[in-house]
Amino acid sequence: MTAARAYFDDERIELTHYGSAAWKITDGRHTVLLDPYFTRLRYSGNRFGMLPANAAPGDTRPAHSFDEIVPSDTATIDQHIHDATHILLSHAHFNHCMDMPHIAKKTGAHVVGSYSATNIARAYGVDEKQLVPVRGGEDYDFGDLSIRVIPSLHSALCDKCYFDAGIVPEGLQGPLPLKAFSEGGTFGYLVRFRHHEILLFGSMNYIEREVQGLRPSILLVPSARPRLQIFRYTERLLKASGLPRVVVATHWDVQTFPYGADQSAALDHAAVFQEEVRKTAPDAIQVLPRHFETFSVLPDGEVRKMV
Ligand SMILES: [Zn+2]
Repeated sequence: MTAARAYFDDERIELTHYGSAAWKITDGRHTVLLDPYFTRLRYSGNRFGMLPANAAPGDTRPAHSFDEIVPSDTATIDQHIHDATHILLSHAHFNHCMDMPHIAKKTGAHVVGSYSATNIARAYGVDEKQLVPVRGGEDYDFGDLSIRVIPSLHSALCDKCYFDAGIVPEGLQGPLPLKAFSEGGTFGYLVRFRHHEILLFGSMNYIEREVQGLRPSILLVPSARPRLQIFRYTERLLKASGLPRVVVATHWDVQTFPYGADQSAALDHAAVFQEEVRKTAPDAIQVLPRHFETFSVLPDGEVRKMV
């Protein structure tokens, strides 16, 4: 476990986006990572109901099959992640979970996730004491931080044909091929920092009754096209969570494109999502973060871009 650190003087919370559903969120004292995925690999085939990955223009990297073992991009991870107290996994697919073991081992962070996600950690030799396997509904006290696990749903990929019934069993020995990273159930997380309550999702669906009554000040909403499969996705989520003051678009990019590739089509579509937010919550402060961008939120809800 990383040594205890001090809160930021102005009680701000800092949020850094790494593309896909990946985030670092810190109040100075705690550093929470959500679905930390940096490898951004290209793949071929359509396991888990995923469409074969598009290639970015000029991207000459190989497209990996799901039978392959693909190493994490540790150089990129180590450039950006130096410490963490908690790693939260929305689900166990490779594009959420495959970089977690490296980060868990280097930081000593708690790993909060499903039976499948924590079994992936075990397969790579993450210390058992770090693992916090959850099934949804837990509300865990970590002293001056608490985490409520919100039962949720995976994106309805491939025009609602998506279904991944698999789990990652106990007893596997890493490294694992991509096909071993089964969904294993999906969660959202309500993280209560000292002055900020933030509701996190890593996939484009949710269970409305599980969100009803939560009152986060900051809401991260996965906003790519699969959300359009869901009835009034944006409106129902914002209303159920009490129209949070700060609404952040996440999971908006083409995550098989390498960092630095042109994401303008995805950004154009994210603007459509932002318009949906405006219709339901015209007073919300909206953020559409680019890769590696950090912004901060003050306790009064003021949002500042960090430079
Ligand atoms: Zn997934």
